[in-house]
Amino acid sequence: ATPTSIMVGTGKGAEMGILFRRGDALQRLRNTDVVAFDKTGTLTRGQPEMTDFEVMGDQQEDELLRLVASVEQASEHPIARAIVAAAEARELNLSEVSGFDTATGKGVIAQVDGHEVALGGAGYMKELGVPTDQAGNTAEKLGHQGRTPLYAAVDRQLAAVIAVADPLKETTVDAIRHLHDAGLRVAMITGDNQHTANAIARQCGIDEVQAEVLPDGKVDAVKALQEGGRAVAFVGDGINDAPALAQSDVGIAIGTGTDIAIESAEVVLMSGDLQNVPNAIGLSRATIRNIK
Ligand code: ADP
Ligand code: MG
Repeated sequence: ATPTSIMVGTGKGAEMGILFRRGDALQRLRNTDVVAFDKTGTLTRGQPEMTDFEVMGDQQEDELLRLVASVEQASEHPIARAIVAAAEARELNLSEVSGFDTATGKGVIAQVDGHEVALGGAGYMKELGVPTDQAGNTAEKLGHQGRTPLYAAVDRQLAAVIAVADPLKETTVDAIRHLHDAGLRVAMITGDNQHTANAIARQCGIDEVQAEVLPDGKVDAVKALQEGGRAVAFVGDGINDAPALAQSDVGIAIGTGTDIAIESAEVVLMSGDLQNVPNAIGLSRATIRNIK
């Protein structure tokens, strides 16, 4: 491409809210075979709400919610904000915790009012030695509904299954349809559990799902999609998306996301509107056509 056509294309992108941080990203984007999206905060709004609370033992629901919300006060995860907001809505008095620990991409644990309280996914409960078999069906059912099931344990005994739901952004379904219309395959990479990930993928028409990916595993997930020489554009917003953005053929960050993600990307979408993913690829194709 000539410098002039790149300048024109970059300028058009800027008008649409697409920032090409490097001119060659505008050229290379047209070669994309697969667009892979992070789920939380990228495909979804990133502001989950608590939807379900199933008590598994003989404790009271409000007391259990009070305990887990006390632990989640110390976490910055969107799930934590949903749990704390639910407790605040019920005007529960949260306790101070000690020994808080977060297992990134897995769950949280702390001491609250003389009890050890943990909240997280099935894998985390397994690591803690908490059996979850009795709640497996409940969790699976919630997952099929596209909700994220979490297990709460008090003193290493299963106490509740809690679910949060994070709705898709308004533009997600259309954006993916436009990518399909442009002949691309669409994938999702998420730390969320398999059932939930599959349900969300069905809702928005995603072709390939990599679920239960730990934060360190997102790079390998991108590499797996690159097998066979496929060019992968990865779209993400979070701190833990930065290595995957760097690994992908073209990293696309959501401008409302974290600074680290933006710095690791070659393309930045100024708003969270995913329509600008197919728009950016279309612009890349048009720019190259114009110079031929
Ligand atoms: P995503 O790819 O959707 O952003 P994460 O890697 O952040 O997912 O988290 C993956 C899973 O780890 C969550 O679905 C949840 O089961 C568990 N988890 C992570 N952080 C927390 C937390 N603060 N409280 C409860 N569970 C958590
Ligand atoms: Mg995210």
